[in-house]
Amino acid sequence: MYVCGPTVYYYIHIGNGRTFVTFDVLRRYLEYKGYKVKYVSNITDVGHLTEAAQDKIMSQALKEKVHPMEIIERYLQAYLDDLRRLNVKLPNIMPRATGHIPDIIEAVQKLIEKGYAYAANGEIFFDISKFKEYGKLSKISKAELASLRLEPNPAKRNAGDFALWKAAPSDYPLAWPSPWGRGFPGWHIECSIMSSKYLGLPLDIHGGGEDLIFPHHENEIAQSEALYGKKFVNYWMHVKHLTVRGSKMSKSKGNYITVSAAIERYGVNALRMFYVMHHYREACDFSEAVIEQARANFDRIWNALENLRRTERFGKEKIDVVKFRSAFESAMEDDLNTPAALNAILAFVKELNKKAGKLSKQCVKGAISLLEDVFEIFGFVQPTAKVHFAKLIDLLVEVRSALRAQKQFGLADQIRAKLAELGIVLEDKNGETVWRLG
Ligand code: AMP
Ligand code: ZN
Repeated sequence: MYVCGPTVYYYIHIGNGRTFVTFDVLRRYLEYKGYKVKYVSNITDVGHLTEAAQDKIMSQALKEKVHPMEIIERYLQAYLDDLRRLNVKLPNIMPRATGHIPDIIEAVQKLIEKGYAYAANGEIFFDISKFKEYGKLSKISKAELASLRLEPNPAKRNAGDFALWKAAPSDYPLAWPSPWGRGFPGWHIECSIMSSKYLGLPLDIHGGGEDLIFPHHENEIAQSEALYGKKFVNYWMHVKHLTVRGSKMSKSKGNYITVSAAIERYGVNALRMFYVMHHYREACDFSEAVIEQARANFDRIWNALENLRRTERFGKEKIDVVKFRSAFESAMEDDLNTPAALNAILAFVKELNKKAGKLSKQCVKGAISLLEDVFEIFGFVQPTAKVHFAKLIDLLVEVRSALRAQKQFGLADQIRAKLAELGIVLEDKNGETVWRLG
């Protein structure tokens, strides 16, 4: 699986987070099913231009008044920190464009030899008219293509032609020597080269945000298939953009929440739950209200799991755990329908709560295993505060038992009543006390 990673010129926001968590959940699910997943996700550290044809990293370096390598270092480390905070399992390989310049130069040379690319003013362009299937992913029409003014440049043969190699002035810090002079690679060619180098063609799965369908992925297909003469990708997956009150989350609109700020505020479990509550191809609008729902959903699952793990007495009641597991799996296998999979689990939790304290030992064991699998696949983390919380309740229960042994029933009852107010139910049976979350 190959997923287009970030251009490391700023902190990632929760829209980017949606994309990275989506593929993390897919990877976790595939691993749960026994697949060995080789996951490659690149770091774009050169070549990604702004609308005004400025390298994003160079622009940020000018703004922060530091060398571009310092920008790359700072935001690459921040990205890795954010992935860890998001509990995203790191990809097996995270190739950096700047570490693949010789591979890219070689590929551009081959594209020229094969007649797909041409030089103009020290730059190399891909000639989209030479790749007959151009447009097959985005379904862009010839008329639309002709009206495009991508990187306006009179030297280009077609409006949609894109740069494989860009020329750079002699004092430009992010540039390398090439047969066409000093310069740097175009953004699209980076992904074609790094994906094929580590995965071979065709890639089983290629992903990214929906904004990448055109031109980025269309161009990746053209370059890769022209270069290798093989099918590039078996399955494309594109994540719909996260919005805030209907408008796309982006830095320029000021509706930007960084991943680190969101995790500090809402916690990783509420954020990941928020993501899985939305199917990756459907709209996903961020709001505090939905985060609250997400938190409640997470608590429901976590409380059920905690209660099951602490079960000491068993009854004869049963729940068809296999039925709920297969409902979860078939939703996940229906184009990664995480909200439907989640609903199957919430229905399961409802059943568990109805039969709390009466389930058979075998059923409790099966239920724990299902909820633990879901926990792992959705990538939740054990809420540390709740571990201390459980120990605290154990302590209160012990103190209450000691008070009862000393016949101080008034105080003991007070502890029980106050805990009940907090939703913690104490039950005395056969000389011992157990507690559960009510
Ligand atoms: P970038 O650093 O802009 O190249 O983005 C990194 C990844 O996040 C790409 O796969 C983008 O398509 C994706 N992405 C960017 N903005 C959003 C958004 N608002 N919602 C979901 N994914 C996004
Ligand atoms: Zn890419």
